Amino acid sequence: MKLPSVTDRLARNRFVLDEAESHIHINQELAALTNIADALIACCPAQVYSKAEDGTILVEYAACLECGTCTTIADDAVLSWHYPRGGFGIQFREG
Ligand code: SF4
Repeated sequence: MKLPSVTDRLARNRFVLDEAESHIHINQELAALTNIADALIACCPAQVYSKAEDGTILVEYAACLECGTCTTIADDAVLSWHYPRGGFGIQFREG
């Protein structure tokens, strides 16, 4: 039996988007003083982070898998991350 790929498994997840509030916030001024943008882009398996031409970190929070990886590499002063409000965020269909 062939196991499904990671991409296929991720495609089975469902997201309930909180359009009123992002659960991820970046202090852009502090982030600009560090190399944290490249680290966030490299670490996130969902490609939530990207960088605008002016260096601003862009956050596509709707795709967040809530894995917590980014919270382990960024200082709390730069990255504010909390779980989405109840009922919002990723809904895992398979463990
Ligand atoms: S919690 Fe995981 S998926 Fe969400 S933004 Fe951080 S690294 Fe990406």
